[in-house]
Amino acid sequence: MITTDVENYPGYPDGIMGPEMMEHFRKQAERFGTDVKMELISKVDLSGPVHKAWTEAGEEWQSDTVIISTGASAKWLGLESEQRLTNKGVSACAVCDGFFFKGLEVAVVGGGDTAAEEATYLAKLCPKVHMLVRRDEMRASKIMQDRVFNADNIEVHWNTSALEVLGDSEVEGVRVINNVTKEESTIPLKGFFVAIGHQPNTDLFKDWLDMDETGYIQTKPDTAHTNVEGVFASGDAQDKVYRQAVTAAGTGCMAALDAERYLTEKGII
Ligand code: NAP
Repeated sequence: MITTDVENYPGYPDGIMGPEMMEHFRKQAERFGTDVKMELISKVDLSGPVHKAWTEAGEEWQSDTVIISTGASAKWLGLESEQRLTNKGVSACAVCDGFFFKGLEVAVVGGGDTAAEEATYLAKLCPKVHMLVRRDEMRASKIMQDRVFNADNIEVHWNTSALEVLGDSEVEGVRVINNVTKEESTIPLKGFFVAIGHQPNTDLFKDWLDMDETGYIQTKPDTAHTNVEGVFASGDAQDKVYRQAVTAAGTGCMAALDAERYLTEKGII
């Protein structure tokens, strides 16, 4: 919903803008009779068998099945400049946006598997990738770290934090600080990728559903079933590995099929 160009969704040979793709999805669903309501849900009761949800305005909805597709939000550093330059060189997804930085110098912030993966992905497109790691070691798995160290064009800046993303209408560099020496410096670059983790948007369901320690909803293997009958989960709210629009659409389809089968088995439809 908030991304600009989407280049990696099948069926769009020339790419598409995220909001326009959402509009296509909505129209296609409505063609089959879906009643789309745009509301924020502030509370749920999944004690069943009929599940309940309340809108912010206090309206109560009831349903035999619920499919949760609330997604995940990228974590940001919280810098004003980072927010101002989002989609103007600042991104939280190298696989989505890396293509736009082909041939340009970029930085990746973070020291986990995501940051290592994004840095090695970008190293295939960009002449130079700066990895900004805030401590003197990475949290990433050894194999991912080895990939970083084996890439000639990735420079790891240890003990380094970003203070400000530089540029007015597009990214021109980053001002960084060495957390040990307190020395500040500037790195000129065109792309600034924040890869410090994701937070699934699942707080609303934490009293009801089994989740892992980071809040991803747990589904039964090879299905979209949660631990609560009639409640299904799909997309980034339950997937921390693939996190792509196309994989989210795929698990959304699984959830719809599982929900339909559930309704049939219970004799509801
Ligand atoms: P993560 O493991 O939580 O790592 C987050 C990284 O960002 C850490 O290095 C952390 O530094 C750093 N960080 C956090 N806040 C920061 C800040 N404000 N400023 C600078 N750096 C900051 O998150 P992740 O890398 O997204 O991985 C999440 C999970 O998915 C992990 O279990 C991971 O193994 C898995 N995953 C696996 C793969 C794969 O196997 N291919 C790929 C991606 C993700 P500190 O270490 O100092 O806290």
